[in-house]
Amino acid sequence: MISVHKDFNDPPAGLVSEPCQEQQQKALAEGAKHNFSGYHYRDSTIEALRKIYKYKCGYCETHESAGASLRVDHYRPKARVKHSPDHGGYYWLGYEWSNLILSCEKCNRRKSDHFPIQNEANRISTPAFGIDGFPTKECCRADRKILLDESPLLLNPELDDPDTHLIFLPNGTVTFKTAAGEKSIELYFLGRDELIKNRKNMTDDILEKLKKHLLKYLKLEIDEETYRYAMQDVYEEATLNRQADKVYSRVANALFDDFDNFVVTQFPDGQQDYIRQSFQLYQQGKLWPSPKVSTVF
Ligand SMILES: [Zn+2]
Repeated sequence: MISVHKDFNDPPAGLVSEPCQEQQQKALAEGAKHNFSGYHYRDSTIEALRKIYKYKCGYCETHESAGASLRVDHYRPKARVKHSPDHGGYYWLGYEWSNLILSCEKCNRRKSDHFPIQNEANRISTPAFGIDGFPTKECCRADRKILLDESPLLLNPELDDPDTHLIFLPNGTVTFKTAAGEKSIELYFLGRDELIKNRKNMTDDILEKLKKHLLKYLKLEIDEETYRYAMQDVYEEATLNRQADKVYSRVANALFDDFDNFVVTQFPDGQQDYIRQSFQLYQQGKLWPSPKVSTVF
């Protein structure tokens, strides 16, 4: 799960083109029966989303270079809402920029037409219209009160801070702090084996390198200067992993935020003080004289 900034006032050309406006009119007339044209999500729309989402799935953080098949997901489903049989889908949001999320095929398929909210009484089933004949912004924009008042139970990478809702753990699993976090893990399938394995590998890789260098130092195979340089290198790699364009950057952030749990406790008692101290020195910029990357996030 990532957190991205998207300017809802700046939709890509494809979504404001005349043909797309005509499709929008049709969708308004036909409702859920409308055949939503994927044509308008291609080219400028998916390109804009790929840039905003740093070429990663907004839900599971799998990168397209790692094989993620990225597509446009309708955050609020356009044609029907599962478990809400009387709802005809959010058909008026089919071409709405703030409703389009970049998702991998696996998250997209699992989420499907699910859109659980906290209070069904607040669910919007028809939009209000403005004098221009189109639904009002209040009923379209994901960040406006009417839609926010639905209190979605699915996290939105463009509106929600994942750290408020989810906790990533050193064993690769993810657990929740809130009801929305719990539902999102279930409906984006964030606990699937492949993700657990990849997230764990990322932590283990850093851990193994730190263990290797510390052990060499304790066995007097390397001197302090070499040890510090090697540890600095590993911490810099871990720091780079935190950048938004890296796969599973939330896990890399969790490793820094909860270093004791992710790293220190994975070392034998007699080595924990060494590893804790090396991390403190790194954060203070004192482990090695010239850190190559910024540690500030
Ligand atoms: Zn995904």
